[in-house]
Amino acid sequence: MQRLSARPHHVGSPYDKDNAEWIAAKLKSWGLDAKIENFDVLFPTPQDRLVEMIEPTKFTAKLQEPPVAVDPTSNQQSEQLPVYNVYSIDGEVTAPLVYVNYGIPADYEQLARMGVSVNGAIVIARYGESWRGIKPKVAAEHGALACIIYSDPRDDGYYINDVYPNGPERPRDGAQRGSVMDMVLYPGDPLTPGIGAVPGAQRLALSEVKTLTKIPVLPMSYGDAEPLLAALKGPVAPAAWRGALPVTYHIGPGPAKVHMRLKFNWDTKRLYDVIVRIPGSGYPDEWVIRGNHHDAWVNGASDPLSGTVAQMEEMRGLSELLKQGWKPKRTIIYAFWDGEEPGLLGSTEWAETHADDLQKHAVAYINSDSNGRGFLNAQGSHSLENFMNGVMKDIQDPETKLTVWKRDQLARIERAPANGKREILTRPDLRIGALGSGSDYTVFIDHLGIASINLGYGGEGGGGGVYHSIYDDFYWYTHFADTDFAYGRALSQTAGTAVIRLADADLLPFQFGDFAETVRGYVDELKKLDDDQRSQIVERNREIDEGAFIAAADPRQQYVPPPKDPVPPHLNFAPLEDGIDALTRSAQRYDAARQKATASNAQAVNAKLIETERDLTDSAGLPGRPWFRHMIYAPGFYTGYGVKTMPGVREAIEQKRWQEADDQIQRAGRILTKEADLLDEATSALGK
Ligand SMILES: [Zn+2]
Repeated sequence: MQRLSARPHHVGSPYDKDNAEWIAAKLKSWGLDAKIENFDVLFPTPQDRLVEMIEPTKFTAKLQEPPVAVDPTSNQQSEQLPVYNVYSIDGEVTAPLVYVNYGIPADYEQLARMGVSVNGAIVIARYGESWRGIKPKVAAEHGALACIIYSDPRDDGYYINDVYPNGPERPRDGAQRGSVMDMVLYPGDPLTPGIGAVPGAQRLALSEVKTLTKIPVLPMSYGDAEPLLAALKGPVAPAAWRGALPVTYHIGPGPAKVHMRLKFNWDTKRLYDVIVRIPGSGYPDEWVIRGNHHDAWVNGASDPLSGTVAQMEEMRGLSELLKQGWKPKRTIIYAFWDGEEPGLLGSTEWAETHADDLQKHAVAYINSDSNGRGFLNAQGSHSLENFMNGVMKDIQDPETKLTVWKRDQLARIERAPANGKREILTRPDLRIGALGSGSDYTVFIDHLGIASINLGYGGEGGGGGVYHSIYDDFYWYTHFADTDFAYGRALSQTAGTAVIRLADADLLPFQFGDFAETVRGYVDELKKLDDDQRSQIVERNREIDEGAFIAAADPRQQYVPPPKDPVPPHLNFAPLEDGIDALTRSAQRYDAARQKATASNAQAVNAKLIETERDLTDSAGLPGRPWFRHMIYAPGFYTGYGVKTMPGVREAIEQKRWQEADDQIQRAGRILTKEADLLDEATSALGK
């Protein structure tokens, strides 16, 4: 980690290439077959950044993170990428400022009740609650001309813990870089949606790209944001909107007026993915894939190197096993991705380039991205939930010496509400979360339908406060995170065990009871969402008719009551309920048959099992975003990395598009029925 984080290593930097070559050389020295695959992608960097307040007082934002004396890499200023949000458009704007809290759709509804419009304004939003790219997108939909995103000390600064270098959290002038690509349309190189960014690939013109922001956007520290927020007047922000700066949070608009100017170098840069292949001895055409990225925003000790080095250690372990004569039955592919930070570039371009092979051969993808002290966080395909529980039962938590599974179970029981404790105590498997987006698994699960798992330890010691800043470096990591790398070893053991078991199992360890039960939960949630939404609309319309909103508001403050909504039609959930019933029955039959299975006919069954995640995708994709093909898991259109389960149906209901909701229910029902049929085929293949 010290070697890889010694210099800034973002996409296009000399040290990014150097790191890739060093990783590849290390792997070769262990006897592994490592290659570098290149892609050429759009990666804009700042040419000109200016934010100044011109009224009622003058102030120019620093937009610069100062070195810290005790931290030996924080002074590498000539190599550090400036503080910016990549894939913002160029632009120059002068306009009054409006504070929009987290800048998510619910915040704009609240602004409308207060009679505040952002039309023609510059908005200032705080980081949190959504993927950062959602903030400029929603702001632009409401007519804003530009967007500032700042880190409030309430969320990852002195309100949480001492700030760096005395503690782990964000210092006054620390800022969060990051992508604002509209990744919920498609991730990867903006110029090559759906295809690999290889030489000769058909590239879009910049003017045709849909994933750039519609308005200029720039991040800043709370040191820079404080004078801007302090200069706002207008209504006082609602209690939940207030941060931890020593000012009264007002909303505006104005009197603060801001001048903002952004210009980027719209360059193409080269990616260096390090790819290792360990050929399978029994089933070489079935591939188990494992990855973690190596590029960072700056020195990136925590994000991503804490995961990268755990993956290297895992590979060193595998290389020792190979030397002792171990031969995995399946082919294992390890990847060290480049370009994750700007927009999952390295993984997406690689998987798009090799899509045909991956669809034929990929069994599963296991991802990690950053690691820390604490509990194992596992999310992913629920057909692998039972399998991952098995892995967790065989790994020791380095600090408590309990198994990772037992520690997680006890902690969940302790934290659960009174009515939630029993399930955790009695359900054989701990639940794993669903995947939205946010790291390199996205193309595998969402686009190609490859069963995926994301793994990482964390939850102890905080540390969100140096995320994507110059302070996420070796000094910070070895003082405040997994300081003795004990959890780095635990991640190697966890992911390595999963890879070895997936590669060597004669019958693939997929189980469908957990999956069917989880999807039934999603169907129940949809029905409840529909019911709740209808009764809310009816109740709200009644209150509007009776003048309740006006009566409850302060007559001396401006207040705009919400508009009446038409009462929605009743949706017919029967296709979805028939689908989930069929899936539940088929899953029970398969899981029962699997208990008695012998290895002799495993290959015929495995061919079906590999298809079970593919069959949850639909080549037409989600409404308005065809790149996203998975019908059960997807990032939300207005949340980004937050997962939307059964996204087609859910988002249609949430956005009150009733005809579309009806169509999507039928489509999701067909997907579940098809999955049930496939499981029946797997069951009969088991019996033969
Ligand atoms: Zn990362």
